[in-house]
Amino acid sequence: MTENASDISLSPIGLVNSPYKEKFAIPRQPGLVSSAKGIVKLLGAVNNIDSVRELEQFSHIWLLFIFHGTQKQSWKPLVRPPRLGGNKKIGVLATRSTFRPNPIGMSVVKLDSIEIDNQDVILHISGMDLLDQTPIVDIKPYIPYSDSLPHANAGFAQAEPQINLTVAFSEQAQLALTKLKKDLPELSLLIKQVLAQDPRPAYKKNKNDDKIYGMNLYNLNIQWRMLNLESIDVINISTISD
Ligand code: SAM
Repeated sequence: MTENASDISLSPIGLVNSPYKEKFAIPRQPGLVSSAKGIVKLLGAVNNIDSVRELEQFSHIWLLFIFHGTQKQSWKPLVRPPRLGGNKKIGVLATRSTFRPNPIGMSVVKLDSIEIDNQDVILHISGMDLLDQTPIVDIKPYIPYSDSLPHANAGFAQAEPQINLTVAFSEQAQLALTKLKKDLPELSLLIKQVLAQDPRPAYKKNKNDDKIYGMNLYNLNIQWRMLNLESIDVINISTISD
């Protein structure tokens, strides 16, 4: 790191493995899909058991990360948050948009356990809103007395989004879930929690829709469609071949 504040460079200290293999259908904030489980593998000099000594005392951690999937795209001072239906423009710094002057994100996730595998330090996490392979640039313990401000004003994002769609599985999808149960016991819950958020573009919210959508979780492609305004039908679950 140089001493010149106008010329800062950061190196990843960890890499995320997450079920979310593409941007589509990732929840818009952490904590909305508790069954999303993944890991952070520590890298380089930070991959040292001493770096995480006593971290297991904390149930939650902050992950500071790079929006690597969109960092090459430009940013604009005004953006349209999906939470406002995608048609009102507000300042980028008044949003959690991924398109920012510096592509830095921050998410609180649950720290389920810390594993030492040979010489590798692996943090098991859940509830993340992160794309697979997201580079982590810092990790800090979550400290409720200071980080949680329940009475703070949060403007257009005051409360958790109240979308709660019902999700049903077709016979084919149920068969696939049964076959996958041994390797992915929480897959049906993960699909339900992800789809209950209505991952469609903001302008489709509360609108009926004939389209068949596909989303990728792990190495699976999941096809689904809206049945009506309250429910989703999972049509098919298939393995994506390499
Ligand atoms: N909690 C973080 C924050 O507030 O800085 C991220 C919020 S951002 C609105 C969450 C979205 O970022 C996800 O729904 C996903 O579409 C996108 N995302 C997650 N990881 C990403 C990555 N590594 N690169 C680009 N986009 C990513």
